[in-house]
Amino acid sequence: MSRFTNHNFANQKALIRVDFNVPIKNGVITDDTRITSALPTLKKVLADGGSIVLMSHWGRPLKDIEKKPNLTLADFTLKPAADHLAKLLGIEVQFAADCIGDDAAAKAAALQPGQVLLLENLRYYKQEEKGDVEFAEKLSKYGDVYVNDAFGTAHRAHASTAVIAQFFPGDKKMFGLLMEGEVAAADKVMNDNKKPFVAIIGGAKVSDKILIIENLLEKATDIIIGGGMAYTFFKAEGGHIGNSLCEEDRLDMASALLKKAQEKGVCIHLPSDSILADKFAADATTSSSLSNEIPDGWMGLDIGLMAIDQFSHIISNAKTILWNGPMGVFEMEKFQHGTKAVAEAVCKATANGAFSLVGGGDSVAAVNKFNMADKVSYVSTGGGAMLEYFEGKELPGIAAINKG
Ligand code: AMP
Repeated sequence: MSRFTNHNFANQKALIRVDFNVPIKNGVITDDTRITSALPTLKKVLADGGSIVLMSHWGRPLKDIEKKPNLTLADFTLKPAADHLAKLLGIEVQFAADCIGDDAAAKAAALQPGQVLLLENLRYYKQEEKGDVEFAEKLSKYGDVYVNDAFGTAHRAHASTAVIAQFFPGDKKMFGLLMEGEVAAADKVMNDNKKPFVAIIGGAKVSDKILIIENLLEKATDIIIGGGMAYTFFKAEGGHIGNSLCEEDRLDMASALLKKAQEKGVCIHLPSDSILADKFAADATTSSSLSNEIPDGWMGLDIGLMAIDQFSHIISNAKTILWNGPMGVFEMEKFQHGTKAVAEAVCKATANGAFSLVGGGDSVAAVNKFNMADKVSYVSTGGGAMLEYFEGKELPGIAAINKG
């Protein structure tokens, strides 16, 4: 059992870093997933008889105000999150209008078991993102135990996400349930995987995914490459890609990655054929061709039918699957079939016993769009953090807790 599950919070104050960076329009929260995701952690502390001081960031107040002087700090308040959380928990959620200072300290000190306090947006202070030690120490005084449940910011060495942990002894700092789930799923895929381990990497640009592919060359059995990034590989190999996306300055690197994969015995699979469009638009005229024989005037916007068969077959044999990035321009109806078919193949392999993790940006949006999120093993909420984990980087928010 985990440190968090084992801990008895009775009569203790849990200082919990959450990610309540939810979309808010005109004071109304339009998607509360990030708040509901934190509920299991909060409920466990309250059920134990503990109290909770919550801290989070929201948006980029200081940077945005610099660019748009008509904005004020009040435009970045977390108060709507406090009100919404109160509704979800069915209890009052107190609010401190300044995350540090006398009011926050007094409210935190007066908290009784079963009570919850949310501090105002941490990013009202530049010290948060700078990882200021004094600022972190001030925050640390509000709780007996530090719980980090904000996986989405785990790749940042900010005051509340990493620096603060040094003010708590090893048994008084821990991941919350959401963060624990993310770390366990990512660790299972990257460090404790069953073979064949098939990684599916898609999306627009090779340059965004180089580090991930390089790291996967050390771990995966097969790497499927789809989406716009595939065409840089085809061109690097002498193929004709028409007007498809291509990063000319990455051609050498693409060739080097293919060569390295061969040396390491990792199979890289590129889509043998593509669905073509005469323009980048939802109402484009479509056609199809081999991916390395795309005529001028046409661009590949999705993987083709042969590629769907090719990829589905590889995925069906997998015991571990990592999926990051769509196979095509899935936002447009005409070019969503490849991504949907790959999602279906991943769900089928999962039903047959594979462990599947979908993480990082648009592939998460894709499985949600196709209502398949509950048919894969894990859907990560931490975009940038998960990508850096896949790149093999040590995330400061994880390291700060694991250091003991
Ligand atoms: P990324 O953020 O790098 O994962 O890229 C996701 C974006 O790549 C999505 O918005 C897709 O529409 C886009 N995309 C995927 N395949 C292609 C393609 N063949 N051509 C252009 N854009 C693509």
